[in-house]
Amino acid sequence: MRSTDEGSLRLTPTDLTTFTACRHASRLEVDRAVGRPTPERGRDPDVDLLATLGRRHEDAYLGHLGAQGLRVERLDPMGHGAVERVRDLMREGVDAIAQAPLADGAWFGVADVLVKVSGESTLGAWHYEAHDTKLATTARSAAVLQLLTYARMLDRLQGRPGEFVRIVSPGRGGEPFDVTSLRVDDFDAVTAYASERFEAFVLDAQAGDARTVPEPVEHCAVCPWWGHCRARWREADHLSLVANLGGVRRAELERHGVTTRAALADRRTELGFRPSYGRLEAYLAAAHQADVQVRSERIGELVVEALEPRDGEGLARLSVRSPHDVYVDLEGTPFYPGGGLEYLWGWSIGDGEVRHVWADDLPGERRAFETFVDAVTAHLEAYPEAHVVHFGPYEPSAFKRLMGRHGTREEALDALLRREAFVDLLPVARQGFRIGVEAYSLKDLERLHGYLRDEDLRTLGPLKREVEHATVLGVPHEASETARAAVARYNADDVISTVALHRWLEERRVAAGVAPRLPAGDDGEPSEALTEQRERVLALVDALTADVPEAEDERSALERARMLLANLLDFERRESKVAFWTKFAHMAMSTEELEHSPKGITGLRTLEVIQPQGRARTVSVRYAFAPQDLDVRSNDQFHALVGDDAVSFDAEVDLGTRTLLVKQGKGHGEARFGEGFFWGHVGAKDITEARLEFAADVVRRGLGADGLYQAARDLLLGSVGRTPHGFDAGRREGEDPLAAATRLALALDGGVLPVQGPPGAGKTYTAARVILALVAAGQRVAVTALSHKAIGNLLAAVIEAAREAGVDVGVGHRGSEVPDGVKPYGSYDALAADLAAGRLHVIGGTAWAWTRPGFR
Ligand code: SF4
Repeated sequence: MRSTDEGSLRLTPTDLTTFTACRHASRLEVDRAVGRPTPERGRDPDVDLLATLGRRHEDAYLGHLGAQGLRVERLDPMGHGAVERVRDLMREGVDAIAQAPLADGAWFGVADVLVKVSGESTLGAWHYEAHDTKLATTARSAAVLQLLTYARMLDRLQGRPGEFVRIVSPGRGGEPFDVTSLRVDDFDAVTAYASERFEAFVLDAQAGDARTVPEPVEHCAVCPWWGHCRARWREADHLSLVANLGGVRRAELERHGVTTRAALADRRTELGFRPSYGRLEAYLAAAHQADVQVRSERIGELVVEALEPRDGEGLARLSVRSPHDVYVDLEGTPFYPGGGLEYLWGWSIGDGEVRHVWADDLPGERRAFETFVDAVTAHLEAYPEAHVVHFGPYEPSAFKRLMGRHGTREEALDALLRREAFVDLLPVARQGFRIGVEAYSLKDLERLHGYLRDEDLRTLGPLKREVEHATVLGVPHEASETARAAVARYNADDVISTVALHRWLEERRVAAGVAPRLPAGDDGEPSEALTEQRERVLALVDALTADVPEAEDERSALERARMLLANLLDFERRESKVAFWTKFAHMAMSTEELEHSPKGITGLRTLEVIQPQGRARTVSVRYAFAPQDLDVRSNDQFHALVGDDAVSFDAEVDLGTRTLLVKQGKGHGEARFGEGFFWGHVGAKDITEARLEFAADVVRRGLGADGLYQAARDLLLGSVGRTPHGFDAGRREGEDPLAAATRLALALDGGVLPVQGPPGAGKTYTAARVILALVAAGQRVAVTALSHKAIGNLLAAVIEAAREAGVDVGVGHRGSEVPDGVKPYGSYDALAADLAAGRLHVIGGTAWAWTRPGFR
């Protein structure tokens, strides 16, 4: 935001997203822009790194567009006449315009890329869509709001906003980019509403009439005003200074007039009101926490109070400490391309020296992971009573993620998890004690045991950034030895601090007479069925990779394809492992931990019991729940602990009325649940089986064989456009893309024909017409994609194309939500019957449908 020469304010989409995140930040920005005195504004130390990475990503996308023959114009957005230049290029019909400045009234913004797509506008038979090249791999709300603001600005320039906006993230699974398309119509009303409110707020703030106070929100983590707000909260003894007190409970306290830490501390034994959200005990715990913090400050000494031991919580989570316990701590950076990097691994055996393994890139990360897991596995075999001790959930989560990412050490990690080898000290401290610190961090808890760090944390920041930025930019050797040594010392401090905290906690456990956690009773061996399937996979992997050279650049195309297939064989099992670990982790969670998990639900209150009607035998119970952040997916079921088991139930969550309807059935009709969690997993037995059968055929007949699995073979080898007369996947001179795709698809002889193009290039349009041509030629067409939504989009386009062409086509989809004109199929038998009877020509289904026996 800045002031113009005319005295008005120029607003950007970033200003709008700041407004939606925090009004106080917006007010400070207005004050600053109009020249009022403001507090010191900080600067994100990672801003330059992020800008460099962002530029690289954008360059890669522009290169990708250019490689498809598109003309790309890149502008200097702040250059003289740049806004007019964009208009000229749009009128001219240039394929893509990068760094395109757009202006509309008070608004100004620079769109990453405008991409030309077909469709009438005031420019002619084309118009433009806004693309945002984002490094984050998820469509964050800020990016969405920014893009939609550009769409509104485009509306003024071309008479339409474009049907879609696109977020272009780095690709996964071998794809160069991951494109999220958002329909402008779906979000336009929200954007208009937010913009109007923001403009009104800015007018008030300019006039000095906007009153705001800082309230901690998620945006604080990246906000330049953080230092100022933090000082104000300190001055006001704000509730955000109370450790482990979440935003929703804080708001509830404020609603009841409890606005300071001292006021909350006074309510340690009597809260004075009945909270409408959450359990009373949780508020009393927060008051107790406030009390020990206030007293610690008052007497200048750390106040620590032990809590009443409870089964399986706090100190009871500790097993007997062994001198052979392993202590581990990782340093990671989220900015490394492709999902972050664990770049330094530090661990010790008991009090011993800290061992370090650096990982400068992804192969290095894989080596470090394997080295660590192998070392721990061998160590625990020698010392079965030992555990792997860490602080906080980060390390085990990273191990599970890396197992999936690198496809290695699954059995070893699974065995460690089954024998419950990991011990997290954070919940032990949180559930066992009230400690007078503002945060239960490893560093804050050093006041308990007095560990003195080697590395000075005040000077560490720039050195750590030096190492991380060099690593992220792919030049790790450019970080100085001084910086690397400082990071290594810092990591060693964390490891040794964990040892010291463990010792302190164990001494308290013994003194309090709390029984230690018993060994898991699992020897870490997988089940027989699992072993059988695993052996089958391993035999195929061995056969596929037997003569493949270790070094990637020494492999032939055939060997690379065999390696790829070998790595894919166990994909579903690896994925489902992560899902089951999540389930088991939730089964072991305390109420407090469930409260903090987006999959957990607590404080359920029974509203009504719905008895079975007629022949139905299902008792349903409707519960109310308090406001909480919930992440419930369509295939999630509600799980509640019954004895030691988690029982699953079909359930409907209504976030609007905050009610949960649980179909408890006859067996559990009498039960009333107070808490639980949501979890779902769709097995993929048929998909795995189909792939194993394909791999077995490759082993038997070779990858280059003809016939069975021809398309899969060609796809792996990158051999495209197989026809009876040889391979042909190219356009002829003067041939338009649709004519070429139709000609080649009709000529295909069992192979594959990839059609690629940027979003909006017309792939769906082309595919729909190619499908009609195939149907006209007497073929039946199967449509598949990763999601039902994507399949539905193409089927809708087929219906539309058939309508335009005046032909009748039978279209079905193995799914429940289908576009108009498409017949939904819940049962495979009905689908098979209609197929056999010739009533269906085009059928949609995911891999689950097409790998079923009978549908392969
Ligand atoms: S630090 Fe937090 S409360 Fe303060 S202005 Fe920034 S986002 Fe708002």
